Amino acid sequence: MLKKSFFGLVIPQFEYERLPAVLPEAEKVAASKTITLFHARNSDQNRPASIRIGDKVNTGQKISLFADDPAYVIASVSGTVSAISPHTGDFGKAYMAITIDIAETETFDDQFATLAPSPTLENALEYLAAAPGSPPLQTLADSDKPIKTIVITGVDSDLLTGTRQYITGTRLNDIKDGIRILKNITGIDRIIMVTGRDTIQGFGHIGADVKSIDTTYPAALPPLIMKNVLGEILPAGQTCEDMGVCFMSAEAAASIGRAYAGGKLPVHKVLTLITKGGDRHLIQTTIGTPIKDILNVYGVAINEEDRLVFGGPMTGSAVYSLDQPVLPDTDAILVLDRSQAAYSSDYPCINCGDCVRTCPAQIAVNMLVRFLEAGQYEQAADEYDLHSCIDCGLCSYVCVSKIPIFQYIRLAKYELDRAKTAEATDV
Ligand code: SF4
Ligand code: SF4
Repeated sequence: MLKKSFFGLVIPQFEYERLPAVLPEAEKVAASKTITLFHARNSDQNRPASIRIGDKVNTGQKISLFADDPAYVIASVSGTVSAISPHTGDFGKAYMAITIDIAETETFDDQFATLAPSPTLENALEYLAAAPGSPPLQTLADSDKPIKTIVITGVDSDLLTGTRQYITGTRLNDIKDGIRILKNITGIDRIIMVTGRDTIQGFGHIGADVKSIDTTYPAALPPLIMKNVLGEILPAGQTCEDMGVCFMSAEAAASIGRAYAGGKLPVHKVLTLITKGGDRHLIQTTIGTPIKDILNVYGVAINEEDRLVFGGPMTGSAVYSLDQPVLPDTDAILVLDRSQAAYSSDYPCINCGDCVRTCPAQIAVNMLVRFLEAGQYEQAADEYDLHSCIDCGLCSYVCVSKIPIFQYIRLAKYELDRAKTAEATDV
């Protein structure tokens, strides 16, 4: 159990979670009856589906909605498909939620086992994109944006979360295998493992350069790692991938290593549960386990106006259902009592300047927020550096008027991105 308390800190200078040198096993939490997998919904749904209610599936079986669908999920249990229904995620992202009733006896699918002795980028893309940690294989395979450097992050990017640190401390051999395989299948030699300043010792030869970063938030966010470790400033509006750098979590690298070494697709996710009052637990559960099953094990009751967040306190996203399943990239579940949750208000900006003083990107946030509130996103980007924002959430945290600045920023970036994609499609 992790013990440091976050609640009650008032100065916006936060240290990342630091786990003890000797780590206990993550606490195992099983799904009670069902798991649910979110399958991306990209195309015409009026075709005959290749998966139906009543179908039996085995653990590790690849499931696609349609025979020619490039999207897929991996069955994390053996059982029977009991529901397939539309689900809308953040910013209207469309999914099909595939629910599987768990069978008493587990049977493993062996399709990946036949490919495991010969790792290639193609078979990694075919089977490992939904593995724990969500390995960014599509990014590595994108010939329009060739990747020259892979950065593996052994530090958690948000506060209170110990997931990546735990994986780095307990699965170094899997990470080492993952690094070797990544080099072989991508041809990329420059792999950098990033860890906390106080944990840089003890890696031995893992096949990557090991670099340390500061232990103060937001040093573990990719734009700051680019600047402080790689010595490259991310230009406004560009992504790390535009600069030839692909970030992946330690868990993603470990998943690749473990899958090829053992011939089995990993289906268990490590995450940090932060309960009301700040108690923390490192948990290992099956991908697709509903949050309610996890909260039941720890006796966490959810009352009206309490808040559930996927991710850490600075950059996490609220979820609105106890049936929400653990996803391959869910690193933390944060439960906030209504008295702890920072509810946004209708108060106007009082121009106190706290957000400006706090912003690591030195943006005039007090001005930016005026354009964001008015929905003038292009002006916000052109005149007030919206695209220089590194998505740290500190401005929202310090705002005395409780303006949801970070949420406005996310929405603005999403809308501008959507408009850009629509324009490109129309050409
Ligand atoms: S989230 Fe706010 S504080 Fe952080 S970089 Fe963006 S504007 Fe600045
Ligand atoms: S912290 Fe909030 S109230 Fe103060 S200047 Fe920034 S947006 Fe305005």
